[in-house]
Formats: sequence, C-alpha cells, structure tokens
Amino acid sequence: MRVVCVDVPGGPENLLLRTVPIPQPKDGEVLIKVHATALNRADLLQRRGLYPPPPGVSDIMGLEVSGTVDTLGPGVKRALKPGDKVMALLSGGGYAEYVAVQEELLMPVPSNLTFYQAASIPEAWLTAFQLLVLIAQVKQGEVVLVHAGASGVGTAAVQLVRLFGGVPIVTAGSAEKLKLAEKLGAAAGFNYREQSFVQGVHDFTQGRGADVILDCIGGSSWEQNVSSLAVDGRWVLYGALGGKMVEGELLGKLLSKRGHLLTSLLRSRSLQYKADLVRAFSHKALPYFSGQPSSLRPVIDSVYPMEDIAEAHTHMEANRNMGKIVISVTP
Ligand code: NAP
Repeated sequence: MRVVCVDVPGGPENLLLRTVPIPQPKDGEVLIKVHATALNRADLLQRRGLYPPPPGVSDIMGLEVSGTVDTLGPGVKRALKPGDKVMALLSGGGYAEYVAVQEELLMPVPSNLTFYQAASIPEAWLTAFQLLVLIAQVKQGEVVLVHAGASGVGTAAVQLVRLFGGVPIVTAGSAEKLKLAEKLGAAAGFNYREQSFVQGVHDFTQGRGADVILDCIGGSSWEQNVSSLAVDGRWVLYGALGGKMVEGELLGKLLSKRGHLLTSLLRSRSLQYKADLVRAFSHKALPYFSGQPSSLRPVIDSVYPMEDIAEAHTHMEANRNMGKIVISVTP
C-alpha cells in the first residue's frame, strides 16, 4: 500500500510517498480501506520531529480517516461487514491506503455525508466535544470564548457550543475567518491581530467575562485570557500555537478570579478513555450531522490528492485554512 512517511524530520519537502506492506488487523482490530484522511496541527509537529507518536503506535502520520471496512481481525464483536462506511479516530497511521484500528474507535459515516466530510470529523470534533463536555462541562447559557475560531477544532467547537445551549464567541486572524465562525453560530468575533480581544469580551458579556475559554494559543495571549475570564471561569488549555513561556503574574491574576486552569491532550489518552469518548460523541452529537434539518456540518477548506501532501502541509503551516484540509487517498 502507498503511505506518506518522513525519514528525516523537517519541512514539508521531507514528506515522502512509499510502498509498504498492508497491516494485518490484530485482536479486536478492523482493517479499513482508506478513502480520505485529514490534516491536523499535530502532523506538522510530528513531521518536524517535535511530537513523536505514543509508544507502540505507527510512525506514519495521520490521526483520522474515513473509508470502508476491508477485513475484521480476530475477536471483533461489533456487527461490521466488508464495505461498511466508517470513520475512525487514530493515534497514527492515517496517511495510508489501509489502516488497522481498534473496533471501539470506529463510527459509522452519517448517511448524508461524503467520505471527505467524514474524514474531517474524528480528531477535530472529538477534541472539541471532549473539551466542552468532559473537561469544561459547559452549561446552558454559558459564554464560551473559542480561540482560532476558523480552525478545524474551532469550527467544530462553535457548532457544539450552540448545540449544547451555550453562546460561542471567537477570535481569529482575519475578517474572512470571523465571518465563517459567525456563519457557524458565533455570536461575536474579534480579530486578535487588530486589537486586544479583552475589550470585546468585556463588552459582549457586560463586564462579566467568558465562563469558559478554549485556548489553543497559550503563551502569547495568557494575560488577555485571564483578563477575559469570568470569576470562577474555566480556562481550558489544549494547544500552544502562541508559545509555552509565560512571564508575569499569571498565578496572582488567576487566583483573583478563582479561575480554573484545565489542560487536556487526546492522543495520549488510553484506549478505554477514547472508546468512552467515541461512544458519548456518537450518542450526543453524531445524530445531528444527519438530522432533519442537520445542525452540525464539517467544514472543509480544501482537498488535496495524496501526491500533493507537501502542498497541503504548507497551506496549513501558513495558517491559510478555514476548516479542515482533507487528503484524498483512494477514489
Ligand atoms: P488549524 O485548522 O491548522 O488552525 C489553526 C489556526 O490557529 C491557524 O489557522 C491560525 O488562524 C491560528 N493560529 C496559529 N498560530 C497562532 C498564534 N500564534 N496566535 C493565534 N492564532 C494562531 O488547527 P487544528 O488542527 O484545528 O488545531 C487547532 C489547535 O488545537 C492546535 O493548537 C492543535 O495542536 C490543537 N489540538 C489539540 C488537541 C488536544 O488533544 N489537546 C487535539 C487536536 C488539536 P488565525 O488566522 O485565526 O490566526
């Protein structure tokens, strides 16, 4: 099968297409014939050698796929059969024509979605769901500030906040990105490149601050975040696009708000945790992709053939995507 690999960590030019044997599904695993995969920010770090796969996981990149069931490994309990349309959360191995996945991490493709749309769901939507439901425990009416509102995770988070009765507001780096987030349900948006978002959040919440902040930026905006947090608010750190260093009175400012600083990573979680997350998401969110009218939609920025994987990485690294970048693996 064809896969994308990296022999030497570095830029997009170091991504190589290679032919390797098709994996054999082990106990409890399902072999998927991959139709599409999608990019995640973690892939860029992994390519540069800064985010190695967890122990025992394929060193082929790719955290999500859509495709069809090819072969069931021994001991698979679910009623799956070859040809069933599925999408899956992976710890790695998605940039490939076949991938073997534990059966608990498979979800059916909602009936009205294409394989491209389905490939855009697992990593971004399960991350957003996990942060909002399991970590922040967002409640009806709460204001949730979502940074990078037009990112893969951001576009999912805005829609899920609305689904669960909260009020999403966003930051992003361009008017076009803010417009997209507002179309998806954001009640307000602030261009962080033009002004501090503190005043915008203050005005929107009439001085109360955001109940929850979903923060994938970290270092560069910590002070604005703590200023924008409501008393007793939850600040959920899940990425560090703006750096990991903090200089200043973070703890004092957080304490004065009685703020909760929470962090989470999905990839390093146990199989049981991910299986529970997939089950909860399948129950509470998945039906809304195909309901009448459907209220959730994966946002696709672009689709690249596997041969153009380097261009796809360059596009994401330049922060040009709005929503997900999909890779077409097999037609
Ligand atoms: P994405 O679609 O590539 O979007 C990222 C966007 O973030 C960029 O397009 C850019 O948009 C904005 N950005 C980049 N650098 C920035 C900076 N220094 N300051 C402010 N904004 C910046 O990303 P994604 O794949 O959805 O991932 C989003 C974040 O979630 C990443 O940090 C990723 O590592 C994290 N993540 C975490 C987990 C977890 O389990 N913890 C799981 C999945 C993803 P603008 O033009 O608006 O600046």
